[in-house]
Amino acid sequence: MADRAVTPLFRRMAVIGLGLIGGSLAKTVREKGLAETVVGFDRREDELALGVSLGVIDEAADSLASAVAGADLVVIAVPVQAMASVLASIRPQLSDDVLLTDVGSTKGSFVAAVKDVFGHWPDWVIPGHPIAGSEKSGIAAARTDLFAHHKVILTPADGSRQDLLGRLTALWQGCGATVLTMTVDRHDEVLAATSHLPHLIAFSLVDTLAGEDDNLDIFRYAAGGFRDFTRIAASDPVMWHDIFLSNRDAVLRVIDHFTDDLGALRSAIESGDGDMLLQVFGRAKAARDHFSKMLSGQAYVTNMNQKQVTFKLQAGGTVAGDIRVPGDKSMSHRSIMLGALAEGVTEVTGFLEGEDSLATLQAFRDMGVTIEGPDQGYVRIRGVGLHGLKAPRGPLYVGNSGTAMRLFAGLLAGQDFDSELTGDDSLNKRPMGRVADPLRQMGAVIETGEGGRPPLKIRGGQALKGLHYDMPMASAQVKSCLLLAGLYADGETSVTEPAPTRDHTERMLNGFGFSVERKGATARLSGGGRLTGGAIDVPADISSAAFFLVAASITPGADLMLRHVGVNETRTGIINILKLMGANIEVFNEQEVGGEPVADLRVQHAALKGIRIPEDQVPLAIDEFPVLFIAAVCAEGETVLAGAEELRVKESDRIQVMADGLSAVGIKSTVTEDGIVIVGGQQMKGGQVNSHGDHRIAMSFAVASLRAEGDIEVTDCANVATSFPNFVELAQQVGMRITVEESS
Ligand code: NAP
Repeated sequence: MADRAVTPLFRRMAVIGLGLIGGSLAKTVREKGLAETVVGFDRREDELALGVSLGVIDEAADSLASAVAGADLVVIAVPVQAMASVLASIRPQLSDDVLLTDVGSTKGSFVAAVKDVFGHWPDWVIPGHPIAGSEKSGIAAARTDLFAHHKVILTPADGSRQDLLGRLTALWQGCGATVLTMTVDRHDEVLAATSHLPHLIAFSLVDTLAGEDDNLDIFRYAAGGFRDFTRIAASDPVMWHDIFLSNRDAVLRVIDHFTDDLGALRSAIESGDGDMLLQVFGRAKAARDHFSKMLSGQAYVTNMNQKQVTFKLQAGGTVAGDIRVPGDKSMSHRSIMLGALAEGVTEVTGFLEGEDSLATLQAFRDMGVTIEGPDQGYVRIRGVGLHGLKAPRGPLYVGNSGTAMRLFAGLLAGQDFDSELTGDDSLNKRPMGRVADPLRQMGAVIETGEGGRPPLKIRGGQALKGLHYDMPMASAQVKSCLLLAGLYADGETSVTEPAPTRDHTERMLNGFGFSVERKGATARLSGGGRLTGGAIDVPADISSAAFFLVAASITPGADLMLRHVGVNETRTGIINILKLMGANIEVFNEQEVGGEPVADLRVQHAALKGIRIPEDQVPLAIDEFPVLFIAAVCAEGETVLAGAEELRVKESDRIQVMADGLSAVGIKSTVTEDGIVIVGGQQMKGGQVNSHGDHRIAMSFAVASLRAEGDIEVTDCANVATSFPNFVELAQQVGMRITVEESS
C-alpha cells in the first residue's frame, strides 16, 4: 500500500459496486490511508478478484451483508436505478453509527429510495455526487487521480449529522476534491442543465446523423467541432438511460426551455431575423469566452498574462513616421454605455479592449442589447433607447471594473426591473456607499453587501427625483453615476465637484445629443430626454501618446506625427510640461469628436531644459511622470517635481521604482517626500531594470534606450499588453530597437 501519512478517518469502508467510480474511490482511499480497511462488493466475482489483485480493495466480500457488517462507512456506487434494491438488501445490517452515502448522478431518486426503504431520511444518510468521470467504465478503468481538482457535491438534509458531514467532506478532500453542498432539488436542476441536457443533445445529434443515408460521408467530413461537441455521446448508454429516468422532472423542464429557445432560433432563420441571431450568438460567445473567468471570480483581462515578458532594448534608434496609438480607456468604456442607451446604431472605431469596456459590453449583452465585435477596435451597437433594456437573467458580473460597477449603479437605479451587480474578488472588497448613498437620496432602493460593499441589489420600478449633490471627494465615477441616474430622474440633477475630475461622461452625453450644462464646478442635466446614436472614433489615448512625445523630443533627428489624439484639457499636462521644457510640439487638425477635442500632434527633436514643474499641472499629468523623468534626464539643468504624493500609491510606488530604475542605468536622482529632483545631462548606461509589473515604467525605460550608451533590459513587462496592446509594434515601426522575450 502507498503512503499512509494521515490518520484514517474511518475504520472500515465498504464500497458496493466496484465500477469506475466505486473502484476509483476505493483505490484512492486506500492509497491515501483515509480508511483502515477497504472492503469491496461486486456482483461479479471476476471483478472482485481483479479488485484485490489491482490493489483497489483490501478485502473482497462474498455478499452484500458481509460487506456492510461492521462498516462505519458504506458507499453505494451502483447505477442510480439499482440504488433502491441495494438499499433494501443492506438495510438489516445498518446501524445508527454508520455513515451511508452514494455517488449517484441524480440525488432526488436516491433520497426517494432511502425514504421508501427506511420510512424516513435518517440523519446518518448523506448523499453525494462526484463531478468526475470518463467514458470508460468498470474496475479496470479505476484511477487514483480521478477526483483530484474536481468537485464533489454533497446534498445533506437540514437535520443531517454535522459530525458525519464533516468526516465525509474530509474524505473527499483527502481524495483531492473540492466539496460543495446544496439541496437535493438544486443539485438535480443544476445537473439537468449542465450535464444531462448536453448529453441528451449529443446522443440525439449523433443518432440523427448516423441515421442519414449518406452517414459515412457525413462522418468522414465531420470536422473538429463536431468531434469536440459529440465526444460525450460515447458515454455509457445504460448509465445515461438510468439518469434520464431518475431525473425526469428537472430534465423535462430544461428540455422544454431549450426547445423553446431552439424554436425561436429556427423562426429567426426562417424569417431572416439576423438581429436576433446576432444577439443570441454574441451573448453566447461572450459568455463562453469569459466562462472560466466568471466562475473563478477573476477579472476579464488581468491575470490573463501569466507569462514573464522582458523587453530587450538595443541602445540608440530613431523616431520617425506617422502613427496612431490605441483608443482612450475611459472613452471606449463610455461609448459602449451611451451607445446602448441611444436610439439607433452607434459605430465605434479605435475601441480599446480593456477591463472596463469588456465588462460593460457583456453587461449590456446580458440586458438584451445586440453588440457586434470588438474586432480590431471596431464595435457596432444597436441601441435600445433609454427605456429599452431588458431584465438580465442573473446577476451582472463586471469583473474588476470599479468604473463599470459605479456607473451601472446609477443607470440601473432608473430601470423598471430588479438587478444585481457583482465583481471579482478584489472589486467585491471595494466600497460602494459613495454611490449608493446619494442614489438613495434620489429615491433609489439599493441593498449593499457588508460594509457597503458589492454585491449591489437594485430594486427596479422606483420613481427617481433630481438631486443637487456636493461631492465630498472629487470622483469622476461618482459624478458620472449620478448623472446617469439623472437621465431617469424627474427634474434636474446637478453635481458639484471640489476639484476638477475627468469630464468624459458630460462631453459624451452632449455628443449623443443629450444636453449637459457645465457652470464652474457644477454639471447639470434634466431627466426625460433621449440619446441619438452615431459614429464615434475614440480619440487615441494621450497617456499612451506620451511615450512617443518624449521619445521624439529626446532623439536627435526625430520627426513623428501622432494622429487623432484626445486633447481634453483635463489630460494635457504632458503637452504643457514638455512645451515648458522646450519641446517642439505642433498641434494640427483640432476638431471635436463625440463631444471630445482631438488633434494631430507633430513632435520633433528639441534641446530640452530642466524646469520646476508647475504644481497646477501635476494632477493633469499624473500618469505621465515616469516618462517625463526620462525627458528630465535628457534635459539640461535641474528638473524638480513636488506635490505628487499620489504617485507613490499607484500600481507601484512610481517615484521610488523609477529612481531605482534610473540608478540601474547609472543616473543619480534625489527622491523627496512628494516628488523627485533629477539633474539633467547625465549619460544613461546599459543595465537591467525591474518594472515591478508597472506598465508605464516598462514603456518609459524602452524610451530611455534611445539615449542610452548600452543595451537595456526591462523585466516584468506583461501588463503593457493590457493598457497599450501594440506598443512594441509601434515602437519598432518608428525605429526603436525593441524585441520581446517571453517565458512561462
Ligand atoms: P460502472 O463502471 O458501470 O460500474 C457500475 C457498478 O455497479 C458495477 O460494479 C456494476 O456491477 C454494479 N451494478 C450494476 N447494476 C447493479 C445492480 N443492479 N446491483 C448491484 N450492482 C450493480 O459505473 P460507474 O461509472 O462507476 O457509475 C457508478 C455510479 O456512479 C452511478 O450511479 C453513476 O451515476 C455514478 N457516476 C458516474 C460517473 C461517470 O462518469 N461514470 C460520474 C459520477 C457519478 P457489474 O460489474 O455486475 O456490472
